[in-house]
Amino acid sequence: MSDKVIQLKGLTKRFPVGNVYFTALSDINIDIDKGEFAGLVGPSGSGKTTLLNIIGSLDVPSEGNATVLGHSIASLSQKQAAHLRNHHIGFIFQTYNLLPVYTVYENVEFALLLQNMSAGERRKAVMQALEWVGLTDKEKSKPSMLSGGECQRVAIARSMVKKPQIVLADEPTANLDSKNSHHILQTMKALNEELDVTFVFSTHDEKVMQYLKRKIALADGKVVADEAQLVDETQIG
Ligand code: ADP
Ligand code: MG
Repeated sequence: MSDKVIQLKGLTKRFPVGNVYFTALSDINIDIDKGEFAGLVGPSGSGKTTLLNIIGSLDVPSEGNATVLGHSIASLSQKQAAHLRNHHIGFIFQTYNLLPVYTVYENVEFALLLQNMSAGERRKAVMQALEWVGLTDKEKSKPSMLSGGECQRVAIARSMVKKPQIVLADEPTANLDSKNSHHILQTMKALNEELDVTFVFSTHDEKVMQYLKRKIALADGKVVADEAQLVDETQIG
């Protein structure tokens, strides 16, 4: 059996702009295996978010195929796409997207409410996820009481609490300082190694790039390089 969790074949995405079409992604061919720690790198406007949205079943290709965990994204009903996202894919965004009126605990628990779990099972899963990111002592805090780095750790816990097979992180360090960026990357790398979760990032942050085990470079909606990287922790700075 193939351990490819993401297969993109001849993927093209066009958006209507006025009465013409703008090609945001053009003939993308990429396979990503289970357990990879891979990044889409490229300047603003190169198509990173568009591609993550399609992998995350938030959007569909205009041409070609995106197969995620064995499902062809374009052929899923809305309900099937929602099921895939709710159970198997975690999302981390640049702006954290936490709900301000809820506590840290509730923000993480939110990801489990669409699953058939008892309150006790949810409690166990949420506390485990907060432990992964080192925030068990903040469970009762509101996001406004936390630093940016802590907010992003809550978002990581929220993305991981359902034990997804894939986590998609769109510019996860864009709003963080250097120290917090390294901490966030180390946390995600540990989760990738310990739980064998596949991570796909988008970034144009040099600090993030150092951690990637595979760099997929995009320019103007095309893949212009795709290379494995040896990560030397002692050289990261
Ligand atoms: P990145 O995440 O690398 O900055 P995006 O994927 O957001 O790039 O965007 C790639 C290109 O597609 C940009 O030129 C952007 O303006 C365009 N684009 C993205 N979404 C839409 C949309 N819904 N309608 C029209 N153009 C879009
Ligand atoms: Mg983007």
